[in-house]
This record gives sequence, C-alpha cells and structure tokens, in this order.
Amino acid sequence: MLDAIKEFDDLAVFSGKPAFSEKLHVGRPNIGDRNGLMEKINDVLDRRWLTNNGKYVQELERRLADLLGVRHCIAMCNATVALEITTRALGLKGEVIVPSFTFIATAHSLQWQEITPVFCDVDRETYNIDPACVEKMITPRTSGIIGVHLWGRPCDTDALRSIARRHNVKLLFDAAHAFGCSHNGQMIGGFGTAEVFSFHATKFFNTLEGGAVATNDDELAAKIRLMKNFGFAGYDNVVYIGTNGKMDEISAAMGLTGLESLDEFIAVNKRNYRKYKEEFASVSGIELVSYDEHEKNNYQYVVCEIDEQMCGVSRDNLMKVLHAENIIARRYFYPGCHRMEPYRSYFPHAGLLLPNTELLSGKVLSLPTGTAVSVEEIGKICRVIELAADNGPEVTKRLAAMEPDRIRV
Ligand SMILES: *Cc1c(COP(=O)(O)O)cnc(C)c1O
Repeated sequence: MLDAIKEFDDLAVFSGKPAFSEKLHVGRPNIGDRNGLMEKINDVLDRRWLTNNGKYVQELERRLADLLGVRHCIAMCNATVALEITTRALGLKGEVIVPSFTFIATAHSLQWQEITPVFCDVDRETYNIDPACVEKMITPRTSGIIGVHLWGRPCDTDALRSIARRHNVKLLFDAAHAFGCSHNGQMIGGFGTAEVFSFHATKFFNTLEGGAVATNDDELAAKIRLMKNFGFAGYDNVVYIGTNGKMDEISAAMGLTGLESLDEFIAVNKRNYRKYKEEFASVSGIELVSYDEHEKNNYQYVVCEIDEQMCGVSRDNLMKVLHAENIIARRYFYPGCHRMEPYRSYFPHAGLLLPNTELLSGKVLSLPTGTAVSVEEIGKICRVIELAADNGPEVTKRLAAMEPDRIRV
C-alpha cells in the first residue's frame, strides 16, 4: 500500500508516525561495483602487499592526476593529515588565514602544529572566503591562506592568488568537497600551490578513509611523499621528520572501484539536486544553494538556506521537525570553527569580525542525497519541509509550547 500523503497533523514531531522507519543520513556512503571491489581486495590479500606504496595506490594516484590534470597526486590516509603535511612541507608558521565557515579539520590541521588559524569571514553570496576580508587579516606573521571550496563551489581563486602574490604568502585550498568540480573550465586540484581532497566515507567519492594532495610543484610533491612515510628516502635512510600519512591498498581498491562509478554517482546527485530544486520552487522562504551549470559539479551537497521571516519557522525548528521524521538533516557548518574549542576560548570575540559566518551558519541546512536516496524519498522529505514551511507560525507556536524533552531529536 502506498503511504498516504502526510498532512500537517501527521508530522512526527507532533506525535504522528515518522515518514521514514530508518534514519536517513546526510553523507551515506556511495558504494560502486561490489564484486569488482571484492576481486581487488582478494588480489591484495593474495599478493600480501597491504600498504606502503602498493600497486593500487600507484594506479589510483596516476588516475587521479590524469583526471585532475595535475603533475602530482599523492594519496594519503585522510585529508586532515594531508593538510598537516602539506602546510608543514611548505614551512607555514605563525598565522594562516582560513574561513571559520568550514569543517573543523581545516582549522585543526593548523592548530595541531601550533600555527594560528586566523578566521576570515565569507562572502554572503558565495559562502566562500571573502578576498577583501583576507587582505584585511594579513599581518607580518601571516605565512599562508587556505581557501575552502565550500560544498564544491569554487573560491575566487584569481583574487586570492593576487593577494597571496602581493604579500608573498602561500596559497592552498582545502578541496575536500570539490573532487570532480571545475572552475573557469579547469579542474579543481590545479589551483594554488596545492589542493587537498578528502575521500572520507561521507564524501561522494570515498576510499573508506583517505585523501590526496594535488600539486604541480615537483619539489613540494617529493617532500610530501617523504613526509607521509616517516621521512624515509630508502632502506634505513631517514632524511627529515615525517609522520605516517600513507593510504593502504584496500582503500586504494575502493577508490579505483569508485572511479568507475564516478559519473553515475554524479548523475544521481544531480538528479536528486534537481528534484529538490523543483520541489522548493513553490516553497517560500527555502532557497537551495545553486551550482554553476557551466562548470563540472559533483552536486554532493544539497544545502538550503531558511529565511525565518519568510517561512515563519526557524532553521533549528525545521531541523527538529525533520529529525522527528528520521530525516537527519545537518547544520553544516554551524556554529563555525570560531565557536568551537579551543578557538572559542582563544578568540572569544572572533565573531565580531565574522558577521556573514554567524548569519549563514544560523540559516543553512544540508539534506540527504547520494545513491542511498531515491527521488520518491526526496518527494517525502520535501513534503515534510513544505508542511512545516507552509504552517511556519503554527509549528513555531506548538514547538514552543511542548516540553523540550518531548521533541525527539
Ligand atoms: C571532510 C573534510 C575534511 C577532513 O577530511 P578527512 O579526510 O576526514 O580528514 C577537511 N575539510 C573539509 C572542508 C571537510 O569537509
């Protein structure tokens, strides 16, 4: 039997039956050809070469470098360690300018090495680091800038490059969201001195855990290769301090498998994104963050901005409504790195210089997508959002009247 279309009083937050019997998460992993993956895993086990620059890691690195159009692609155990090693290999120190509106790893990768992340505001329209603000944050201690291509939407790379040149600081990008995306017709991966990708399970292309550094700088690439393997330059020969940032063979096998399905993952993401877009066209106060259709996009994040004035329901109340339905929408990247520890204690007033970050982190909501979510399910998700948005003041009133512990989040 088909589920009856939900009406306002059926909302689970008001004790109706949840729209989904199981939790629907943002970033449910995409899995490619399972049999192909199993064959590769068996091959790894047969050859007893599990890590340390194995055949699959080398093949993955070659294929990624080709796809991104860069001279070097170094596979790593994850993007956080890749950022740490890259900033270290470039000799960054003192202060590095980063957005606060990003995943905490961007900031942590610096602070872990006692480099101070200096939080810079984002542009209201692009959600990316604002070059005018970057310029204002530069001090004699600044050694670099790390732009984040948030949700795969490219930073203003030209403006950032010119600032970095003028002040003689390094420019890197945290491209964790931007695998498979292009900017001005060029694949992301080739901008700045280096770009770092994440292939974590929740990213649309994954290697279980994993990441990579893309660069056209031969010297930097050689240094990163040594640093991710303890500084070993050959048997019994360590040439400087390093750590362990290696990707293993099974992760690489997962990556090679995923690459074969990359176009399909993107097509599904795009289909889902279009479905959301179509549904939200008739809902006032809910705006979908869009992608430039002239560029390559991975469409892995469906992010909407909630205008509380227009729909009468706040982002946080809408999230409560969705969570009660087992739709686990996420507030990425609330509340901004500057409001998390240790930064909140170090810089208690940072928010004063981050008005757009504070504004946007209170409005955005990421919705489930990827190959684990069907168009029909998106229809059901949007029906819930539509009911909440069309009855915004009533939702707000009823939620306020409810005991906080009765709201299932
Ligand atoms: C996921 C993510 C990272 C960290 O990636 P890991 O591979 O999990 O270490 C860094 N920056 C951003 C913006 C991310 O979304």
